[in-house]
Amino acid sequence: MISHLGKMPALFVGHGSPMVAIEPDQYNVTLKEFTHSIPKPKAIVVFSAHWESTKVTGITVSAKPRLIYDFYGFPRKLYELTYPCPGNPSLSRRIAAMLQKEGFPVTLDDSRGLDHGAWIPLYIAYPDADIPVLQISIPRHYKPEYYLKMGAVLDPLREEGILFMGSGNVVHNLQICNFFDKYAPVDEWAFEFDVWVKETSENLEINKLLHYRDLAPSNNLAVPTTEHFDPLFFTIGFARKGDLYVESIFEGFHHANISMRCLAVKEDT
Ligand code: ZN
Repeated sequence: MISHLGKMPALFVGHGSPMVAIEPDQYNVTLKEFTHSIPKPKAIVVFSAHWESTKVTGITVSAKPRLIYDFYGFPRKLYELTYPCPGNPSLSRRIAAMLQKEGFPVTLDDSRGLDHGAWIPLYIAYPDADIPVLQISIPRHYKPEYYLKMGAVLDPLREEGILFMGSGNVVHNLQICNFFDKYAPVDEWAFEFDVWVKETSENLEINKLLHYRDLAPSNNLAVPTTEHFDPLFFTIGFARKGDLYVESIFEGFHHANISMRCLAVKEDT
């Protein structure tokens, strides 16, 4: 199916364990199918849980970004994967200027590579590695509104075929997941929180979503630290203008409570 979207969708991808790269299942199939259904992006900009910065937002600017294997104790095969995509330094500079103009402090980082929250979903979704990729860091300790506004500021670039991707997990609590069983029965609390986020996002109840700490069931278990949840706000930031809507393109859990939900912000059906 070829989409007739005027604007590139914006995505939130649940990335889960790095093992998804070498143990494909329906998650991989669905991600690939979705990316085949939209126009090929001119570049991909990732806002990943695995690059947190201090108050200043970093932006990768390398023309040939290296990969960061920021996971430990996994099979050797995973460390041998490559993803030799190019960067896009001129787009990095444009994004820096757009954010700066709106008051976001930013810095271009020519030494930073792509972390696994960025390259593993792309390894699955765009295996040819022929689309330029850059990353924007998550400046720590801000409220969700901050990330939402960052997404909104960059919205015009979607009209130029730029794909924005928040990468994290709606439910992410490694203290109590079941590492040994990818398909373990899903914990009730995780399911409840995930459904709340799905409904709130899809109904575009953005104020409600912003107040998930007061309103969402089991939010302390589902979001013990915010770095895997904050990328969702970046993606939802693209959904505030006009008649955009949000839909889940994949839902399910790995390891009892890691939500693999992926959402797309789209212009129309
Ligand atoms: Zn992660």
